[in-house]
Amino acid sequence: MNSGSKYDVAIIGAGLSGLAAGIRLAHFGKRVCIFERHNAVGGLNGFYSIGGRKYDVGLHAVTNYVPPGVKGTPLGKILRQLRIDREEFQLCPQKGSRVSFGPAGERTLRFTNDVAVLESEVDRLFGSQVDGFRRLADAVRAVPLSGDAALGSARAFVGTFIGDPVLVNMLLCPLMFYGSAREDDMDAGQFAIMFRALYLEGFARPLEGVRVMMRVLLEKFRQAGGERRMKCGVRELRVEGGRVTGLVLDSGEEVAADQVLSTIGLAETGALRGIPPDSRPRLGYVETISVLNRQPSELGWGEDTIVFFNEGERFEYRNPSGQVDTRSGIICFPNNFEYGEGRLLPEGVFRVTCLAGYGAWVGLPEERYRSDKLRVFDEVQNSALRFLPAPPEPGALAAATVATDMFTPTTVERYTGHLRGAIYGSPVKCPDGRTELSNLFLCGTDQGMLGIVGAMLSGISIANQHILRS
Ligand SMILES: Cc1cc2nc3c(=O)[nH]c(=O)nc-3n(C[C@H](O)[C@H](O)[C@H](O)COP(=O)(O)OP(=O)(O)OC[C@H]3O[C@@H](n4cnc5c(N)ncnc54)[C@H](O)[C@@H]3O)c2cc1C
Repeated sequence: MNSGSKYDVAIIGAGLSGLAAGIRLAHFGKRVCIFERHNAVGGLNGFYSIGGRKYDVGLHAVTNYVPPGVKGTPLGKILRQLRIDREEFQLCPQKGSRVSFGPAGERTLRFTNDVAVLESEVDRLFGSQVDGFRRLADAVRAVPLSGDAALGSARAFVGTFIGDPVLVNMLLCPLMFYGSAREDDMDAGQFAIMFRALYLEGFARPLEGVRVMMRVLLEKFRQAGGERRMKCGVRELRVEGGRVTGLVLDSGEEVAADQVLSTIGLAETGALRGIPPDSRPRLGYVETISVLNRQPSELGWGEDTIVFFNEGERFEYRNPSGQVDTRSGIICFPNNFEYGEGRLLPEGVFRVTCLAGYGAWVGLPEERYRSDKLRVFDEVQNSALRFLPAPPEPGALAAATVATDMFTPTTVERYTGHLRGAIYGSPVKCPDGRTELSNLFLCGTDQGMLGIVGAMLSGISIANQHILRS
């Protein structure tokens, strides 16, 4: 075994949290190396190419968008701490999104990056609840950004301000879809973070998608002197005297580090020490992606950036026992951001995401897996179409579609290592990032800050708290 390398800090995983932690540590002169199992960075938020086209894996929208000049926000903190100029991320705000409930979306609440729009929608649809909504928004503003306020159940928390159960469910739906690892409810502290991220701040996207942000992060990391080893998974952590003493790579090589930051998840990190994973339910998704030879606006879909749909009045956010739950989902049109005059994505993109049951996908023979994907693709898309205006003529979507792709929870597990393809990881989080080993810390998904901005903030805060301050 070769044990030549010794680092101040070894980071496991080159997703957003690992890159952000790496930049922060390298800026402060730490000898830091990121070990990534795959040959691409980004993890849950990377991109891939098929047939010469680039597809974003995770990015629907960057949350927490605020216009230039707004102070004291998560986006501002990330930019400042990673020494990134705001313009480098090239973020363009959304046009507008909505939550639509009912068999064909009869009850709709629109929202934009201006919370006054959502407030007036609540007033229009649920008049008597608008004061409660205002008080809820004020209560959320008062929750500290750190995310460690213990507030209990989000459903109970919202229920203290809002009496109409349909409105409670409509407000929770996007927040759970974009950031809850728990079935049917979420932690109220996490709710406050997500409420701020989606409703008080908002959505944005760079025209070229997530690769713009990845390029910036990689360049900052390189400039700061960080090392990165790709196709270099960590398969084992050696432990002695309550500390990690070495990392064994997939190749068998062993490296040493004073401190280790793992971004791969709680159970996944435990597995590197031979600890069997827990059996708590995990939430996974399927996503269908259709590439169109025209802008979505030409099919009558030019107004919506993201649509969160649910056919009932109560939103059930559970791990489905079957392959997919098409009763609810997320529609995303990456074309529908304000990219500026004459700036358009070259092709249309129509993405639909629904909850999916990992157990019903794993282990299927290849042929069956492929045919099930084709069938589920149609089910998912047809469900979403109920919530969109009908295209100008029947068959217009099929005629406009030039390429498709789809992922399932097993795809997510294969490419990111997340147990059972769980995008938001374990329902049990580890907010202070500590583990029972004195020099091993968690950041990213299972530390508890979720999403693109959350993952970067998590990397920064854990690096600050446990490594730079020690
Ligand atoms: C379909 C989808 C849509 C999404 N939409 C949005 C959105 O619109 N807005 C938003 O804010 N967020 C969104 N997200 C969530 C967001 O992408 C993630 O929360 C965030 O990227 C998580 O980053 P992370 O660094 O914590 O973890 P990860 O991205 O999972 O990074 C972990 C890395 O570790 C690597 N790894 C795993 N095991 C090992 C090992 N043993 N050795 C070495 N490397 C290893 C993995 O390959 C991966 O690169 C979405 C995610 C998905 C999948």
